[in-house]
This record gives sequence, structure tokens and C-alpha cells, in this order.
Amino acid sequence: MSAPVSRRTSGSPAKVGFVSLGCPKALVDSERIITRLRAEGYEIAPDYDGADVVVVNTCGFLNSAKQESLDAIGEAMAENGRVIVTGCMGVEEKRIRAEYPQVLAVTGPHQYEQVVSEIHNVVPPAHDPYLDLIPPEGLRLTPRHYAYLKISEGCNNKCSFCIIPSLRGRLQSRQAADVMREAERLVEAGVQELLVISQDTSAYGLDLKYAQSDWNGENLKARFADLARALGSLGVWVRLHYVYPYPHVGDVVPLMAEGKLLPYLDMPFQHASPRILKAMRRPAAQEKTLETIAHWREICPDLAIRSSFIVGFPGEGEEDFQFLLDWLEEAKLTRVGCFKYEDVDGAAANALPGHVPQDVKDERFHRLMETQKAVSAEIFGTRIGKTIDVIVDEVDGEGAIARSAWDAPEIDGCVFLNGQSQLAPGDRLVVRIEHADEYDLWGVPTEASH
Ligand code: SF4
Repeated sequence: MSAPVSRRTSGSPAKVGFVSLGCPKALVDSERIITRLRAEGYEIAPDYDGADVVVVNTCGFLNSAKQESLDAIGEAMAENGRVIVTGCMGVEEKRIRAEYPQVLAVTGPHQYEQVVSEIHNVVPPAHDPYLDLIPPEGLRLTPRHYAYLKISEGCNNKCSFCIIPSLRGRLQSRQAADVMREAERLVEAGVQELLVISQDTSAYGLDLKYAQSDWNGENLKARFADLARALGSLGVWVRLHYVYPYPHVGDVVPLMAEGKLLPYLDMPFQHASPRILKAMRRPAAQEKTLETIAHWREICPDLAIRSSFIVGFPGEGEEDFQFLLDWLEEAKLTRVGCFKYEDVDGAAANALPGHVPQDVKDERFHRLMETQKAVSAEIFGTRIGKTIDVIVDEVDGEGAIARSAWDAPEIDGCVFLNGQSQLAPGDRLVVRIEHADEYDLWGVPTEASH
């Protein structure tokens, strides 16, 4: 389609506004697009008013996320009127255009080149791009002291409630050396914590048949544990997200016990009942998961496991749900997120029998959260009096907000350091925990660490 003429006054750099919705993986896509745009001399506008064009990076995972994406497109249209849509919901161009026929372009997930070329159509890049404007580590939307590191795209699984494989394609891992070079650049730029993400981190390298690549003279295999070990040698916090309980995941637990990796696994179990897990077609679903967790905790007693669960999946009876609650009481997971099942257009689970009424879903959601609240309160209570490492995220006049090894940014809890306003984001220090509730901890510094 032909794009309207830019409002940009000649000579001034073109400004692109960015709205990034969805998961950390989408955030990484946004970062890539922004890095490329900055390399071409574009500026990123902090608000709608100053933007020559606005890119909305959408999420299309659940129907509620799609609605949120449509609302964000609507807001950008109303506030600016020159909008390019990208991301997971971009595969539903018809639906987007039915509501907002004036959007300038619609592209799907990972179509970085296409998004950039659509931006060129609307606001051409400056003739002499200031290539040196771009720092070698790229530009990030996350605070300077932590960064997401995407190690693969796509997924080979077929979970029945999920359409990500059809949106994002099959697993495509990055070469290990490529990942490590990006990680090194981030660390050189001051990043203190690397958050490893993908759709299925434990499957890393399977598609490459664990190919070796040269990293600083070492033949590094594209294999989950090998990559984790190499990342653990960089001297910063390394946190693993989206890991499934395959047996080989146990290979990284000793690295956690040695302090090379954070003792943290983000492991989305989604359910515990074998019957429901089967209907969900979850990867690595097995009845021995509790034993596996217990074994990992023997190796690394500090291990934190965060997980998410879906309640009200089609066919979930009271017995299945009670199984899940009992399992949670035994598993003693550190952090738990819960979603009420929703149909997702195109997902196989929509056709399953036994859809659960909304009031039952609501009630189960509540019961699950209450059960976990008691588990978390017990776990965090045992931390009072302990000294732990933390990293500072934010500082204001009242003190600092930090996180421990057990807390990922955005999704987990905090460690409040009241009165510690002299600290700076990214500082790492040792604190003694004085108080805890079921989400957060409160501590006082003991000595500076690292
Ligand atoms: S593992 Fe399952 S839920 Fe996760 S992206 Fe793959 S298919 Fe979707």
C-alpha cells in the first residue's frame, strides 16, 4: 500500500515510536528492530506525539492478549494515526484491518526486515546514517544491568492449547558461538544478569544436531548444558527461563550448586495430573517429576523453581484439580503463576470435550493461589536471618528495590532495602533478610559483594 508522506521536517532524524506487548521473546524482537533502526540513524520517540510512525509489536498467545494488542493498535491510531503492526498477532491481518483499516502495514513475528522496510516506506532513513550511534551490544528495552538473551526461535512441541509453533515455526537454534558473542558484548557493556529465553530452552541445539562452533578458540557445542556452562563462565548472573523437566536438565543443576548459574529454573509445568498433561500434550510430562525435583534439590538445596499452571483445561475434573493442589503442596515450588484456560483461535484444545464453566475456573484459580500462598509464605519464612546476594533494580528517596537469585525481573518478587538510597541500579551486594511475606523479602546490607 502507498504510505502517507512523512511529517518530518527535512534534516531532523526520523523518529519511531515503539509499543512492545507480550512476552520477553517479543521484547527481544523489538530490541532487534530498534537496534537496526538506530544503526540507520532513526531516533526512538518517547511518546506518540513526537513519532513519525509508531510500531506496535503485538502478542497473539491468548484471546485476551489479542484484545490487548487490538486496544494498543487502537490507542496508537488515535494518538498518532501512522501505525505499523508486527509480532504474533500480525498473522491475523484480516482481523486487524477489519477494526483498523488505516494501519500502514501488518507483519508477523520475526519479520524484522519487513518491519524495517515498511518503516523506510513511511519515513526514509537519513542519507548519512550515524552508524557509530549504535553501541556494539545493540539497544535494549530492559534496564542496563540485565538483558534477555534469545538462544532459539520456534518450537517442535505440539501443546494442544498453544499456537506458537504455527506462528513461529519449528525450533531454530542459534549457533553457540553466536549466542556467546552476543552475551560477551552485553557483559562488556555492563550487563550484570543474562536472562536466557526461547520457547523451549532445554531443546536448544537439537535442530543443529548439537553442531560445534568456534568461540575464542574453543569448539563449543550447541547443547543446553554446554552453552549454560559457557555462559556461567562470564562472571555475571545467568538465569534460565522456559526449561522443561527432561532428564538432561539435571546436567545444569551442579553448575547451579557451584554458583556458576543462578539456582533458578523457570519451568512451566501447566498441570500435574497425568491425564490432563496428556490432553495438553506437554513435553517431558512424566509421573516422576516430583522425584526429579527432589533429586535436583539434593544437589542444589537453594534451587528455586518458578512455574505457571492452567486451571480449567477442558476435561479437568475436581479429581484432577485436587491432584494438582496436592502436587503443589508436595513440590513446594518457589513461585507460581496461574492462568484460567481460554480457547485460542486455531488451537487443538478448543475441540476437546468437557469445557469447564467460568465460575468453576474462577473458583479453582482462587484455590490454587491460596494453596501456593501458604507454600510460598513457608519458603520465604525460612529465609529470615539468612544472608543472600541481591542485585539492585531501582532506587528512590525511600530506598532500593533489589532482587535475589530466586527472583526474575518483572515476574517474581523483590527484596526491599529501606533507606538504601545511595545504591545504584545494577549494584550487587550481600544483605541479611529481616522480614518476609509470601511474595517479597526485606533486608539490610551486610558487605558489598563482587
Ligand atoms: S512448548 Fe508447548 S506451550 Fe511452549 S511454545 Fe511449544 S507448543 Fe507452545
